[in-house]
Amino acid sequence: MRQPIFATFVALFALGAALPAQNPDWTRPFPGHRVIGNLYSVGTYDLGCYLVTSNQGHFLINTGVEGSMEQIRKNMKALGFKLEDVKVLLTMQAHWDHTAELAAIQKATGAKMYATAGDKPLLEDGGFSDPRFGGKVSFPPIHVDRVIRDGEVLELGDAKLTVMEAPGHTQGSVSYLMKVHEGGKDYNVAIANMGSINPGVRLAVNPTYPGIAEDYAKTFRTQKALPVDIWVAGHASQYELHKKHKPGQAYDPATFVDPEGYKASVAHYEKLYLDQIAAEKSAK
Ligand SMILES: [Zn+2]
Repeated sequence: MRQPIFATFVALFALGAALPAQNPDWTRPFPGHRVIGNLYSVGTYDLGCYLVTSNQGHFLINTGVEGSMEQIRKNMKALGFKLEDVKVLLTMQAHWDHTAELAAIQKATGAKMYATAGDKPLLEDGGFSDPRFGGKVSFPPIHVDRVIRDGEVLELGDAKLTVMEAPGHTQGSVSYLMKVHEGGKDYNVAIANMGSINPGVRLAVNPTYPGIAEDYAKTFRTQKALPVDIWVAGHASQYELHKKHKPGQAYDPATFVDPEGYKASVAHYEKLYLDQIAAEKSAK
């Protein structure tokens, strides 16, 4: 029964469901660049899309909004990689600003889509079942080929990514961890889904989904305990890409080293979370 349902949602989308409002920085081009080792950033000015390369094809994490494929292709080409060599598609959260070009890229490359159990339904119904933005299709649905789990190590050729669930922003939000050895040093690298809270989401009183507050609490607890030397995130603004790196800047493994910035960002989002819970409870 999967295919007919999937086809129905594709049809609904094609009929022109209204797309959510868009930030101009989400489509503004930005040159691709090497972050560290085999991790490259190939997204737009604000939307983080990450390429993890291997000797047997590549992982691509996130895609940006619909129509982003040519920018991703161009950024990859400038770095010496081909879009057609992407073998596995991943996302950090099933919201349209990170997922809307997955289906097109899958079609162009034949790559397999891997996703968490929490985000699989949203990916397959184009966000229709999203507890905050649902009731309409907000991105082209994509079939999930494989469900990935917390702590699992994804291997592709000589590349390894560890799955670290980060639920709350969506039920299946997820980060990916890598170890990189570069220039005689070891780096713990996180492609981190930060615990941001969308406007209109409720945590404690009339929660957007049952267990959302506990999910965020788990995310902050595990993110605080994680050793991180280098990090990137779903949005450039979250990890201050534009302060750390300018277009054309030569590759240096030290550019994105920022353990303190990571800790401060997790603490920032945890404070917003705690403040919102307190506000919801006092408004009761
Ligand atoms: Zn989101």
